[in-house]
This record gives sequence, C-alpha cells and structure tokens, in this order.
Amino acid sequence: MSQAEPVVIAGAGPVGLITALLLARWQVRTVVLEAAGADPQAGSRAICFQRDVLDIFDRAGCADDMLAEGVTWTTGRTFYREHELFAVSFPDSGPLPPWINISQASVERYLLARATTEPLIDLRLRHRVTGLSCDDDGVEVTAGGRVRGSHLIGADGSRSIVRQLLGIGFPGGSFADQFLICDIRAELPFPSERRFFFDPSWNPGRQVLVHQCPGGVWRIDWQVPAGFDLAAEQASGGLDARIRQITGDRRYEIVWASAYRFHERVADAFAAGRAFLAGDAAHLYAPFGARGLNSGAQDAENLAWKLAFVTRGWAPPSLLGSYQAERAAAARENLRVTSATMEFLVPQTDALRRRRVGVLDRAVSDPSARSQINSGKLAEPYWYTASPLTTPGPSLAGFPTEPGVPRPPVPGVLCPDGPCVAGGSATRLRRLFGRSFVLLTARAATAAAALEAASAATQAPVTAYALGDIDQAGLIGPALAATRDSVHVVRPDGHLAAVLPRFTPAALASALRRAAGAPGGDG
Ligand SMILES: Cc1cc2nc3c(=O)[nH]c(=O)nc-3n(C[C@H](O)[C@H](O)[C@H](O)COP(=O)(O)OP(=O)(O)OC[C@H]3O[C@@H](n4cnc5c(N)ncnc54)[C@H](O)[C@@H]3O)c2cc1C
Repeated sequence: MSQAEPVVIAGAGPVGLITALLLARWQVRTVVLEAAGADPQAGSRAICFQRDVLDIFDRAGCADDMLAEGVTWTTGRTFYREHELFAVSFPDSGPLPPWINISQASVERYLLARATTEPLIDLRLRHRVTGLSCDDDGVEVTAGGRVRGSHLIGADGSRSIVRQLLGIGFPGGSFADQFLICDIRAELPFPSERRFFFDPSWNPGRQVLVHQCPGGVWRIDWQVPAGFDLAAEQASGGLDARIRQITGDRRYEIVWASAYRFHERVADAFAAGRAFLAGDAAHLYAPFGARGLNSGAQDAENLAWKLAFVTRGWAPPSLLGSYQAERAAAARENLRVTSATMEFLVPQTDALRRRRVGVLDRAVSDPSARSQINSGKLAEPYWYTASPLTTPGPSLAGFPTEPGVPRPPVPGVLCPDGPCVAGGSATRLRRLFGRSFVLLTARAATAAAALEAASAATQAPVTAYALGDIDQAGLIGPALAATRDSVHVVRPDGHLAAVLPRFTPAALASALRRAAGAPGGDG
C-alpha cells in the first residue's frame, strides 16, 4: 500500500494518542500536533476505566500496563446521611475486570511511551494548531509551519480550535456548583468500592464520592457551592478539616487538588468534509458515570478503523459518514444519562430540590424509592442497533438496559468475550478482533465457504473462525446463541455487524458491504 498523505491529528491527549496508535496498527501514518510540551499535565482527571474500553487500550498496546497498575472494583455503594441505601455489583466473571481505577496521568504516560516508539506516528510537541483548510483532496493545517494530510481529526479537547475553525457549534450548559477533587495518599481502612454519600453530616445538602486509586491514593470528590475558593480553603485550614472528616487522625499527603465546574455539551456535527471531532472536542459530560474518556476512546476506535478502510481503499468514503451517525448518537445518549444524573445531584429548581430530598428520605425505609436515586449511571458502550452499518436483527423489545446485565448478542452490540484457542495458542475472543472483519461459524466447512464468499464481496480483510475449532471451553457458542448454521459478522471494533441465521453467499455479501459503508449492503 502507498498512503501518500498521513492523517493529521490535533491534540496528543488520550483520545488523539489512542487514535494514532490504532491507525498505526492498520499501517496508516499520522502526524500528531500537540500544543503542550512533554511535561505531565498538572493533576489527573479520569480515574475509572470500563471493561470494554480496556479492549481498546489493549489494541492500542497499553492495557497490560494499565491492568498491572490499576485497582479493580466491582461494587458501588450509596449512602444517605448515616444510612447505607443500596449496593450495585458488577459481575467479575469475564477475562477483564468490570472496572479499574488508574489516574489519567498514568494512562497518558503509557500511551505516550507507545506513541514515541511507533515509527508510523510523527508526534510533534509544542505545535499548536492555529489554522486549517479542507478541500476535496485533503486537509492543510497550520501549526507553526503547514502540514498536509488526507484527513484531520480534532482531538484537541473541550476548547477545540478545530471545532471552532470548522464553525461547528457546541451547544449545552454548565453547572454553577463546583466540585472539589482531591487525590490524597493515606492508609485508609476502606474497601476498594465506589462509595457515594448523599448529604453526609460532613457535607450537608451536597454529596461526596470516594474512590480508591493505585499507590495508596484515594480520590475524594466534594460538591461545593458556586463561590468556593480553593486557595482560601487551603489557607484557612478548611481543606484539612474536610479531609480529616474522612481520614480521621491518619497521616495524609495531598497528591493534587482542584475545583472543577462541569459542563454538558455535544457538538452540532462530528464531521465536516475530511475533518472529524473526537473526545472532549466533540462532547463534554459531567464525570459521574465516567463517560468522558471512556466514550472518547470509543470515538477513537470507531474513527480509526473507518479511516483505515477508506485510506487503504477497502471501503468507499461513505463509510466515514457512519462515524457521525454512530458516535453522535452515542454522545446524545451519554448526555441524556449524565443530564438526568446532574438533575438529581444538582437540582436547578425548588421542585427538583424537593423531589430529591423526598426520594432520599423515603429511600431509607422504602426500597422501591431507591430506584429513583441517581448518583451516576456507569459508562457502557453504545449499541449500534440502529446504525446504517448494522444488518437489522430481531425485535429489540425487552432488550435489557440494567447496569452490568449482559446484552443479548444481537446485531449492533459488542460481541461477548470468552476464552478460546487460535493458532495453537490460548487467547480470548476479542483479541482476534481489530485487524479485519471476523466471521464466526459453527463448523470449519462453513467458515471456509463464508471466507470465500467474503473475499468476492469486499476488498477489506476478513478472517473466519469455526467455533468448533476455537471454542474449546464451550463458552463462546452459548454466549453468541450460535447455531449449527449461523454466521456472526464482527466489525474490527468488536461490534456485531450482522447475525445471519443461515449462511448464504448473498446474505453474507450484503451484510459485509453494508458494514463497509455501502448503504443497504447492495454495493
Ligand atoms: C475531574 C474529572 C474527572 C473525570 N473522570 C473521568 C473518569 O473517571 N472516566 C472518564 O472516562 N472520563 C473522566 N473524565 C473526562 C476525561 O478527563 C476527558 O474526557 C478526557 O481528558 C478527554 O480526552 P481528550 O483527549 O479528548 O481531551 P484532552 O485530554 O483535553 O486532550 C486534548 C489535547 O489537545 C491539546 N490541544 C489543545 N488545543 C490544541 C491546539 N490548538 N493544537 C494542538 N494541540 C492542542 C491539549 O494540550 C491536550 O493535550 C473526567 C474529567 C474531569 C474533569
């Protein structure tokens, strides 16, 4: 393959670096322009990383480091004043833990270390993007000098200059209340759980969230009033008093402290011509539910395989149109979920404030009121059930939406994971994804026939596996509800593009063409 021009990425934050690393895995060159230098960012931000997103970090080459450093948790507990109201547990039965906590600063270090040794990534620090132009053939970006590329990705964060230069609006709102976030190092006798306190006596009328992080560090997040002044709080000893309400007399050291105001915004468009927005440049959510970076990583993966398919000539440019369709839909869903959370946490009217207090008071003795408490619905991948790339499956009536409940293996959802054997080595199913479309059939003969039909239908790489060969533990077939005749078509990002009840060359060709961006699958 000869790729004349690289993809240009503005921003070497986590989303820009994941995109560059995934594109390199597809042998696509990138130039990454980053305004800052090599100094680590002050403080952390994200700490909670979701299981399915760890697969993306795995493909970017960083999951092993993250898993080795991160702390695992499976339970979230919610308290109101002195009462524990309920606990939610996330099943820990898969190959990866449901959640790990690790600081974003560490994750960025791992990504940067990988990116700087990757020959297909030209990382240029202290190169602030200040201008851009797009035409039918490519993009030209100003960052000191001029850089030409085939496409541009704006992964330049919430104040994205790429978004501004493209003239894309960023509607939404901000919350007046602030959130004081401190990471402290201390030996505390708390379990590794997400613990959310509504109206504790030590922060009346507001809430506090406590999480364990690696290295004996604890993240404490207090909701504080709009006029809160961190410097004054530190100077007066107020911050120490706050921390002592949690640590008691134990010694502690502040790793970092910062006060944030949270925003809820989604860009009017995620693409304009050959330019795309990803991560915080495209969406901002309040972090209760950990949907910011987790969904930014999903933007990165969604865009990377599509750009690779188009720049390598395996798919028509129309495939890129599905980035907006899929990821803007995901962003609107994340916004709906986090807005509902913020309505409960930071009610903006007297009626909502009364409702919150009423629900919490009732929940102490009435378990049925507890379902109305919202301290953040934790991030999950968006299901592309209505995507133009997805061959529609059966009715979705009764589709489960509760946290932690496995989704049925219908087209659009992420393919379940499980132990398997491939190429003579023990591995897990999702490790077979990310380099091609994958076909899963019951029998080897069907896999061979399906592969032959696929190579006539698409220029994109396709791999086929027979469950009879790879599913030696017998767990994947039932998780997929696979039958003797079914074919599961898996996209490079692990989402099921189609579930064919029976293999026919025509049905498979149609599903693959649709998954590669040809509307209706008929080329
Ligand atoms: C307190 C807090 C807690 C959070 N907790 C979580 C959590 O637990 N889980 C979660 O998933 N998310 C969480 N988030 C959200 C998460 O931090 C963000 O979603 C994430 O940082 C977005 O990454 P990004 O790469 O899109 O943007 P950024 O991290 O903002 O990176 C953008 C990069 O672009 C560079 N840049 C900017 N302008 C230019 C320019 N003109 N030219 C070149 N480069 C430029 C910047 O220097 C930066 O390096 C939290 C956020 C906050 C504030």
